[in-house]
Amino acid sequence: MVKASHLKKVYRAGEIDLEVIKDFSLEINEGEFVSLVGPSGSGKSTVLNMLGCLDTPTSGEIIIDGVSTKEMSRTQRANFRGENIGFIFQSFNLIPVLSVYENIEYPLIMIQNLSESERKSRVLKLLEEVGMLEQKDKTPDKISGGQMQRVAIARALVTNPKIIFADEPTANLDSKTAYMIIELMKKIQKEHQTTFIFATHDEKIVANVDRLITIVDGEIVEEKRMSK
Ligand code: ADP
Ligand code: MG
Repeated sequence: MVKASHLKKVYRAGEIDLEVIKDFSLEINEGEFVSLVGPSGSGKSTVLNMLGCLDTPTSGEIIIDGVSTKEMSRTQRANFRGENIGFIFQSFNLIPVLSVYENIEYPLIMIQNLSESERKSRVLKLLEEVGMLEQKDKTPDKISGGQMQRVAIARALVTNPKIIFADEPTANLDSKTAYMIIELMKKIQKEHQTTFIFATHDEKIVANVDRLITIVDGEIVEEKRMSK
């Protein structure tokens, strides 16, 4: 589903080139739940943003669902991302003036050829799945952090993406809520067969993902397959 070969990322900081990702290669299968772990500053977000087509590597190639993203223009990459990829962020990134319902519906407004009734049934189904149906008319300031992340998960899923990237999705949550959010993501991954790629600095909250990849200073230092 995702194949990254020899990714390198260099940031320019004033006069110095900062080589943040060195020679990063990784293959992720369809339906897998993978977590990147590692200390803050180790390069997890940089890797996630490259794999998720939000950013481009300095060199190397990324193939997603058989399609190389290397030669894509900015617009092509944005369209490809919109059709195939969902993102969940640490700070939820909900739109404050929209209701819970409208936040989830928002990515669908960008997709053509979807009838209003189809949109509605998808949003309602996801509201139910993430346990937010009763809160659907509230704006984000009226719900808790855990609830905001549930909405963000539903929003990421609404376009039926093949892959979901989640960058520190539990970092702003207390540990009990964090566990619940991870359980919810695992349940969704099983039901939808969505590939989940997750970054966190907290190894203990990802105890039963399929694979744990540890990154230090932009390099994979350990890879563990978890048995179920
Ligand atoms: P993590 O997500 O694991 O905390 P990041 O991928 O955010 O790590 O950052 C990896 C390294 O790259 C850090 O040293 C960070 O300071 C640096 N970095 C990240 N983004 C930029 C940028 N836009 N410009 C320069 N340096 C950056
Ligand atoms: Mg990060």
